[in-house]
Amino acid sequence: MQKPSLDCRSSAAQAAKIWHDKAGYYNRVDTRAFRHPSRFPAVHALLETSPAHALTQTFSRVQVRDTVRAELERLRSEQRGGPESDGQPCAFDEHGFFEAVRRALDTQHRARLQRAVNATGIVIHTNMGRAPLASAALEAVRDVAQSYSNLELDLETGKRGGRGGQTEALLRRLTGAEAALVVNNNAAAVLLALSAFARDGEVILSRGEMVEIGGAFRIPDVITQNGARLVEVGTTNKTRLSDYAQAITPQTKLLLKVHASNFQIVGFTQSVALADLARLGRERGVLVMEDLGSGALVDLSPYGLPPEPTAGMSMRSGADIVACSGDKLLGGPQCGLLLGKKEQIAQMADHPLFRALRADKMTLAALEATLRLYDSEEAVREIPTLRMLLQTPDALARRARRLRLALAKLPPVTAQVRDGVGYSGGGTLPEAALPSKLVAVSCPPLTADSLAQALRRCRPPIIGRREDGQFVMDVRTLRDDEVPLVAGAFRRITAGLEHG
Ligand SMILES: *Cc1c(COP(=O)(O)O)cnc(C)c1O
Repeated sequence: MQKPSLDCRSSAAQAAKIWHDKAGYYNRVDTRAFRHPSRFPAVHALLETSPAHALTQTFSRVQVRDTVRAELERLRSEQRGGPESDGQPCAFDEHGFFEAVRRALDTQHRARLQRAVNATGIVIHTNMGRAPLASAALEAVRDVAQSYSNLELDLETGKRGGRGGQTEALLRRLTGAEAALVVNNNAAAVLLALSAFARDGEVILSRGEMVEIGGAFRIPDVITQNGARLVEVGTTNKTRLSDYAQAITPQTKLLLKVHASNFQIVGFTQSVALADLARLGRERGVLVMEDLGSGALVDLSPYGLPPEPTAGMSMRSGADIVACSGDKLLGGPQCGLLLGKKEQIAQMADHPLFRALRADKMTLAALEATLRLYDSEEAVREIPTLRMLLQTPDALARRARRLRLALAKLPPVTAQVRDGVGYSGGGTLPEAALPSKLVAVSCPPLTADSLAQALRRCRPPIIGRREDGQFVMDVRTLRDDEVPLVAGAFRRITAGLEHG
C-alpha cells in the first residue's frame, strides 16, 4: 500500500492562486505564499518517511539528509521560476521526489573512488588505477598503515634512520644499481633528476624521443620547466651517436634517453643504444639518464612476450641514472624509482625538491613487499599484472566459456566467445598485441552503448569495450571470482528491462 503523500497545499497558496487568476497577470501577485518554504514538507518530516528509511539502508543518513535538502532546494527554485499558470495548486509528489533523490544519490555514489571490474583486456589501465596489488603488498600496507612503524627509525640504534632503507637495498639487488631512491611517480623522478642535474644547462634529446606520456606530460616541457635548455638532435626516425657527440658543449649537463613506451616508430629507423650513449657520456664527462617508463624487473620474453628492457639491463649499459614507474609492468603501487650511481642518487636525496616528492609509508610498504616477491622468485605467480600477462590460452578460453554460460541463462542476453586481441597498456610493451578471448554480448533492446553505460552504473561498475559495434569483454583482465559479479550485474540489468 502506498503511503499517503505529504501535501504541500496551503490555503495561502490557494488564495494567492485565485487572486492570480482574477488579476490575470502574474507580476502583481503576492507570490510570497508560493515561495514560502512551508509549501513543501520540511526536511526532517521527509526523513521520517519510509522511502527515506529505505534509502538509509544503502546510503548514510547524512548523505540522504543533504540530498533531500538539495532536492527540495531545487524544487523550490523551479517553482520560483515557474509560471504556475495551469490553475492547479502544487501537490507534493512524494514518490517522484524520492526517485529524484535516489538518482542523485546513485550519481554521487558512482563518482566516489571505488573498485571496478576491468573487462577491457588492458592490463595496465591508467584510467583504472594501473596495477592491482599483490596480496602480500596489501597486507604490508595494512600492517604499516594501521599502526606505527619504523618508517624513519633505526631499530638497532634507536636513532633516526633513512626512509625506505630495505626497499632501496632490494632495488639495488634486483637491478644491480649502486643506489636507489623512491619518489611519488616516474614523472616526479624525471623532474627531480632534471632539477638536480640540468638546471641552467643543456639537455640533449633525440627528436625521435620528444614524447608525450599522457595527461600532457611532455618530456620537452619538463626539461624547459626546470630551467634547462632543450637541445634537439637527429630526426623523428633517425638519430645517430654522432648527432649527440656534435651537440655536446661545455653547457651540456645531461644526455637524456626516453624509452618509446607508448608508441612505435617503424620502417626506416635508427636510434642510439643506451650503452653507446653511456660510453659517449663517460668520454665527454656528461651524465647520461634514461627514462625507462615501465620499469620491468624481469625479462618476460622467455614467456613469449615481446622484449621490454628491464631496469637491470639499463643499469648494465652504464647509464648514470635510470627512472621508471612502480605501477606499470612492475606491478606495485604508484611510485617512481630512481636507480643509479651512489653519487647522483645521494645528490637527488639531498635536493630540497625530494622532500616534496618522496613516497609515503603505504607506498613504501607496498613497494617493499612487491619487490620481495621478485627477490624470492615468486613474482610471476603472485603479482597480478604479470599473472594476467602470462595467462595460458587454455585458462583464457576456460574463463570465457564460464562467462558465456553464466550469461546464457539470462534472456534476452546473448553471448558469444570469440578470439580477440588485448594490450598491456600503460605505456608498456606498445607493440604487444596479446591474443585473448572475448565474450561479445548483446542485450536487446539495449544498444552496445547503453549496455556499456548500464554496466558502468552497476556496483561494482563493469568496464568493457566496443568492437565492431558490439559490446565485448576481454577475459584477460577479469578474475575468476569476478565472473559471478558480471553475471549479477546482467541479472539486475535484465530485471530492470522487465519492469520497464
Ligand atoms: C609512464 C611514463 C612516464 C610517467 O610515469 P608516471 O609513473 O605515470 O609518472 C614517464 N616516462 C615514460 C617513458 C613513461 O612511459
